[in-house]
Amino acid sequence: MKAPSFAYAKPTTLAEVFDLLNRHGDGAKILAGGQSLIPSLNMRLSSPSVLVDIMGLRDLAGIKVAGDTVWIGALTTHAEIERSTEIARYVPLLAQAVKQVAHVAIRNVGTFGGSVALADPAAEYPACCVALDATFVLAGRKGERRVPARQFFKGIYVTDLEPGEVLVAGEFNGIGAGYRSAFLELARRVGDYAIVGIAAHAKVGGGKLADVRLAFLGAGDRPILAGNAAAAVEGHAYGPAVVKAAQDALAKDLTPPADLYHSSATKLHLARVLTGRALAALAG
Ligand SMILES: Cc1cc2nc3c(=O)[nH]c(=O)nc-3n(C[C@H](O)[C@H](O)[C@H](O)COP(=O)(O)OP(=O)(O)OC[C@H]3O[C@@H](n4cnc5c(N)ncnc54)[C@H](O)[C@@H]3O)c2cc1C
Repeated sequence: MKAPSFAYAKPTTLAEVFDLLNRHGDGAKILAGGQSLIPSLNMRLSSPSVLVDIMGLRDLAGIKVAGDTVWIGALTTHAEIERSTEIARYVPLLAQAVKQVAHVAIRNVGTFGGSVALADPAAEYPACCVALDATFVLAGRKGERRVPARQFFKGIYVTDLEPGEVLVAGEFNGIGAGYRSAFLELARRVGDYAIVGIAAHAKVGGGKLADVRLAFLGAGDRPILAGNAAAAVEGHAYGPAVVKAAQDALAKDLTPPADLYHSSATKLHLARVLTGRALAALAG
């Protein structure tokens, strides 16, 4: 199928974007890399009257490190994240995760902001952002606001973005001394969205794991921070008993929705397997 007809605008400033979004209301849709939006138009799942192409706003692109903060502009492509030495050094969880985002052709065009704003519960970045307690910068006519990732994702394809707002960037704290990250997922084929995945981050010192964050993708209607599983590990040395305690506790954190191929029980089992592997990776 082909997309329904739509008007196209390519503003060069945020002020123009806000004007277009406010003028066209629900009829306007932001276009970034188009890797999710264009297929959805072609399938006639959406029929906006105007696409507001933001790819000309170069202030929203790139990766900057200032002190402890790493700023990733919304228009930064997956490929730029994958190639970035700053991301590899300061946000290694994202460096691991980006390799699992779709295929090379999609990574060359798809953007960080597009993935976050889309809020697919099986996407890699949202879980990483929740695990790392990142902050999103949102802008609209009334100004800028910052929203913690842990409050941003509201449900399947639902976020805290208000009508007329644009996601400008994500801000991350650079990895602290002694911290380690592990990103793992299971997918039917390389490049597919994950069946289940885990974004894990913790401080490892004196043989013990502390400040443990285990965020799951594909296991709920949004990225899920598994507080009970993390508590079972917190302050303990890595070992089979601790892994089992975390795996058992996971039942209190996750009730994964079944999909066409996997029951809820299968997904919980896979989440437990990934938890064991992620804890082993964190412990080194
Ligand atoms: C075959 C295939 C496989 C894929 N596999 C994966 C995968 O494994 N993991 C994964 O994470 N993704 C996957 N994707 C999606 C891909 O990562 C997209 O690049 C990403 O989801 C959207 O980024 P985009 O820049 O293309 O956004 P677009 O498609 O342009 O936009 C997506 C949505 O976000 C909105 N939007 C975009 N940017 C902003 C912004 N700055 N502010 C506010 N709203 C905005 C748009 O209005 C639209 O609703 C896959 C896509 C395809 C086609």
